[in-house]
Amino acid sequence: MADVERFKLVIGGKPVAAVSGATFESQNPYTGETWAVLADGSPTDVDAAVAAARSALDGEWGRTTGFVRAQLLRRIGDLIAADAERLARLEVSDSGKLYREMIGQLTSIGSWFHYYAGLADKIEGRQIPSPNPNYLVYTRKEPIGVVAAITPWNSPLLLLTWKLAPALAAGCTMVVKPSEHAAASTVALALLFDDAGFPPGVVNVVTGSSPEIGAALAGHPGVDKVAFTGATATGRHVAHAAAENLNPVTLELGGKSPQIVFGDADLAAAASGVISGIFAATGQTCMAGSRLIVHDSVHDELVRLVAERAATIRLGDPMDPDTEMGPVANAPQYAKVLHYLKVARDEGATVAYGGAVDEDLGGLFVKPTVLTGVGPESTVVREEVFGPVLAAYPFHDEDEAVALANDTPFGLAGAVWTKDVHRAHRVAAKVRAGTVWINAYRVAAPSVPFGGYGLSGIGRENGVDAVEAYTETKAIWVELTGSTRDPFTLG
Ligand code: NAD
Repeated sequence: MADVERFKLVIGGKPVAAVSGATFESQNPYTGETWAVLADGSPTDVDAAVAAARSALDGEWGRTTGFVRAQLLRRIGDLIAADAERLARLEVSDSGKLYREMIGQLTSIGSWFHYYAGLADKIEGRQIPSPNPNYLVYTRKEPIGVVAAITPWNSPLLLLTWKLAPALAAGCTMVVKPSEHAAASTVALALLFDDAGFPPGVVNVVTGSSPEIGAALAGHPGVDKVAFTGATATGRHVAHAAAENLNPVTLELGGKSPQIVFGDADLAAAASGVISGIFAATGQTCMAGSRLIVHDSVHDELVRLVAERAATIRLGDPMDPDTEMGPVANAPQYAKVLHYLKVARDEGATVAYGGAVDEDLGGLFVKPTVLTGVGPESTVVREEVFGPVLAAYPFHDEDEAVALANDTPFGLAGAVWTKDVHRAHRVAAKVRAGTVWINAYRVAAPSVPFGGYGLSGIGRENGVDAVEAYTETKAIWVELTGSTRDPFTLG
């Protein structure tokens, strides 16, 4: 294991071994080989990380102004952009995602820190008119405190940044628990905060192979807020654990997002958008456009276009710039995708393309898959596969399109493809989802809120309002007359 890289926990600004000394391995999903050894933390390490985050909050970091935090956020944004190549390679090794996507993500992550740097010195309370002229009333926006961030294996640093940048702008400290399947890049990122000049303990990371660390962190009495991205079932556990401490949560969960294509749509553009929605990142994105709901006049033609392009998608080495789809990110996820393909076949779906593993490549490769002959009750239409599996089915009129799109417990994202401007906005307003793209798919920005309705989550990340999720509002009453009042009346 000569080339294996080693990663420790990050507590109080320093890399430290797990208290137990234990480690665990991470396999590269493309090569199948162990490429990293990481510290296998335990709830005892979580205690230490929460204590370090609390001490930073009570110490130097807690005394910084928004102006100083803005400077530090700008600096960390620059450092991440400068280190994008190394961080992107770590993510590719851990999750098998394409280098060409991850280098783009890692280069843009700096802009999230820059955006929240712009907000850090503008977090303002208000002076509130009091009905009683004897009082001056104002509010302060204070950091909510120690934030627990629990993240998934797809895009670990981007999804962490959506929590970390606004939390730091607000003046919070954080303990991060990355996924056991892709933890290395989070450790590398956390070490950059020291270089940027953040005081020790502002950003801490506890890695580990067991879900018990996430559970320990989510329910930790020293934590003030929990921000989670991951599966809906796990989100429920996290919300229960946080509720024990009556802590607020932000939950970014799963999806089953619809792509609604009307008969007048530009079919070439729609086919490209559908491909990007379901086959980019091997379909392993929360916003995957996994349900293709198409007007019956163009259903067969669009399915043909998508299946033809799917057949030419280049699968292979995620580091190769020509590769368009990498492997599934880990063995449990691979088993899950194959399970859904079998269920679809058993339920009578027709495979327009794919539907199986890629025999030539072996490993964890699954062919991009287009299924027809499914309907609103099919399992692949109801449940999140989190893989390269598209389920296509027809609609007859606009009302039916909206009803089919909303016939899901999820509500993360969706798209409307049409050239009719009236219909585009009408339908976008009726789709119950946190994001709706019109004639586009898979676009995100620091300034635009992202999050879900229903089982897709609670709260929004990104945008100006995300800072609110990391602040408490304190009302301050100032008595102005200096007189002594009747203690038995309400002021
Ligand atoms: P997951 O829920 O299995 O794991 C997410 C994190 O939770 C990991 O760090 C894991 O160790 C931790 N965890 C596991 N059990 C826990 C428990 N009982 N208490 C606390 N933490 C626990 O999710 P995953 O497989 O890593 O990621 C895929 C899922 O994430 C998909 O459902 C996907 O849709 C969702 N996702 C959502 C978004 C979004 O923004 N809405 C983005 C990406 C991924």
